[in-house]
Amino acid sequence: MQSIHSLTLDAFSHLLAEEGEKAFRAKQVFHWVYEKRVCDWDLMSDLNKSLRSKLKEKFSLASLTQRNVETSKDEETIKFLWELSDGKLVESVLICSKERRTVCVSSQVGCPARCAFCASGKEGLLRNLTVDEIFEQVYQIDQFLHAKGQRVSHVVFMGMGEPFENYENVVKTIHLLNDENRLNISQRRITVSTVGVVEGIRRFMREELSVNLVLSLHAPNQHIRKKIIPYARKYPLEDVLGAMVAYARESRRDITYEYTLMEGINDRPEHAEELAVLLKGQQCTVNLIPYNPVEGLHLKRPSKETIEEFRQVLDSYGIVTTWRYTKGKDIAAACGQLALKENSSPLAVTK
Ligand code: SF4
Repeated sequence: MQSIHSLTLDAFSHLLAEEGEKAFRAKQVFHWVYEKRVCDWDLMSDLNKSLRSKLKEKFSLASLTQRNVETSKDEETIKFLWELSDGKLVESVLICSKERRTVCVSSQVGCPARCAFCASGKEGLLRNLTVDEIFEQVYQIDQFLHAKGQRVSHVVFMGMGEPFENYENVVKTIHLLNDENRLNISQRRITVSTVGVVEGIRRFMREELSVNLVLSLHAPNQHIRKKIIPYARKYPLEDVLGAMVAYARESRRDITYEYTLMEGINDRPEHAEELAVLLKGQQCTVNLIPYNPVEGLHLKRPSKETIEEFRQVLDSYGIVTTWRYTKGKDIAAACGQLALKENSSPLAVTK
């Protein structure tokens, strides 16, 4: 059965025409699904019975089953755990700030990159997500917000998985998110985060999208990077930075580097100096993220003073920094943590 979420309006019209249905029927269905957020064929009251039963037989409206939802104490972070049709689990996180409703989506089950500090990479890659499985994470959360009179405003590909290792499906999903017949989310409000897959960055540049690209840098030099990011052995830092600068030039977007501070690994003032020299001359922002401890990993978050000192060194070199307040700490909303917890010891399901 084909998911409606993986079809363009044209492709869906074409399939309905093959069933002897008029072209306007496709628009009618899209209106129900994407305007009214109705996901039950039987509730689409202006479609006749015979069309509804054809649709039921041929097209699915949901590939993800909501398995668990957890809300942080401040109610600003809501974590969703989804079960896929083969029983595997993935997660998405909704982050609410004043005017933004940002969904962080997963692009793979597990991750092949196996970064030393990340829960998602612990088990390696299980499989890529399909286009509808990625799209539906945003769609279902948009449906959840719709009930409160809100909608998803931003999407970040920062959940489980390395987006450029599932390249085609991620790019197709970006087009579906941006599709005016669907969620119509501006490309400028979509961000892809990569650990530094050079050929992926270069290929993405040729798509001519206005999507933001973020590099998970996490180290001021190749030596430390190789220790915490195994992919750095394949993609040397110099090549990764060169590709990022080229992407920024072509897409006319500023570069953002994510830098997770881990005690004793990459958090010393001399690391900050090295980082400042490395990024000299770039129009960029460094997003400092205090490490969020993951069960089973022996890495620690630096003290507030250490983080502040690191930030001040960057500041003295004129590097723009942001602190990412680690939202949802009480519900382990860092990448990969919910699925990990659920897989190792099933939680009570709160649907
Ligand atoms: S940090 Fe990102 S790229 Fe690295 S293992 Fe985790 S999900 Fe994969």
